[in-house]
Amino acid sequence: MSDFEGLVAAVTGGASGIGLATAELLAARGATVAVLDLKPDEVPEGLTGFRCDVSSAAEVTSAIDAVVERFGRLDIVVNNAGIGAQGDVTANDDDEWHRVLDVNVVGMVRVARAALPHLKKSPSAAIVNTCSIAAWSGLPARALYSASKGAVHALTLAMAADHVPDGVRVNCVMPGTADTPWVGRLLDKADDPVAERAALEARQPMGRLVSAGEVANSIVYLASPLSASTTGTALAVDGGMYGLRLRPK
Ligand code: NAD
Repeated sequence: MSDFEGLVAAVTGGASGIGLATAELLAARGATVAVLDLKPDEVPEGLTGFRCDVSSAAEVTSAIDAVVERFGRLDIVVNNAGIGAQGDVTANDDDEWHRVLDVNVVGMVRVARAALPHLKKSPSAAIVNTCSIAAWSGLPARALYSASKGAVHALTLAMAADHVPDGVRVNCVMPGTADTPWVGRLLDKADDPVAERAALEARQPMGRLVSAGEVANSIVYLASPLSASTTGTALAVDGGMYGLRLRPK
C-alpha cells in the first residue's frame, strides 16, 4: 500500500495510543510522518518527532514551520492530542475547564491555523480530528471532557464548511472506549485493574474494547483519497456503542 507516497502528514499526540497507531499506519502506507507531541523523543524509528505542546501557540507555529522546512510540504493533519477529565460539572474549577478546553479544542484550532496555508497548496489536503462518542452520548461523570469533544465535533463541521473552497477536507472520528495507555492509566487506578478491565469489556456491545489500530484505520481512511468526496462527517469507531444506543454503566 503506498497511497500516501510523496505526502507529508503531521500527527499531534502521535507518541502514544491512537496517534501512534495512526502515525505508524500512515508511514507504512508511504507518508512521511511528523509526530507533534510533548514526548518527541519517544517515537519509534520511521517517524520523526517534533516537540509541540498544542496549548502553546508559539510551539505549534514553530513545530509546523519546522515540519514544512524539513519535508518541504504538508498535506495531512491528524489533530489527535487530547487529555481527559472526570466528574460532573461541580468536579472541576474554572482553571481546569480552561486547561482541558485549551488542549482539546483550542489546541486543534492552533494547529489548523498554522497548517492551513500549507494544506491549501496540496491537492490531497485533509484534516482529521480525533473526537469521541462522548460528544453525543451523555456519558455520566464526563461533563468537561464531553463538552470539549462536543466542541471538537462542531468545530469539525465549521472548518469543513469554511475550507471546502480551499480543497481541504475536514472530518472527525468518534472512538468509543479504545485500548490505549490512557485507558490503561484509568484502569490502574482501580483496586483490581484486571477485574475492572473485564467489567469494562463486558459492558461493550462487542464484548471487547476498540483497538488503537482500528481507530487508526478510520483516521487513515478519512485522510486518504478513498474518502475524496467526504467532508464534515463524523465516523464512529465504537464497537456499536452509540449506534446501538448503549452506554457504559
Ligand atoms: P494517550 O494518552 O495514549 O496519548 C495521548 C498523546 O497525546 C500522548 O502521546 C501525549 O503526550 C499527547 N499529548 C497530551 N497533551 C498534549 C499536548 N498538550 N500537546 C501535544 N501532545 C499532547 O491517549 P489516546 O487514548 O491515544 O487518546 C488520543 C485521542 O483520542 C484524544 O484526543 C482522546 O480524547 C481521544 N479518544 C480516546 C479514547 C479512548 O478510549 N482512549 C476514546 C475517545 C477519544
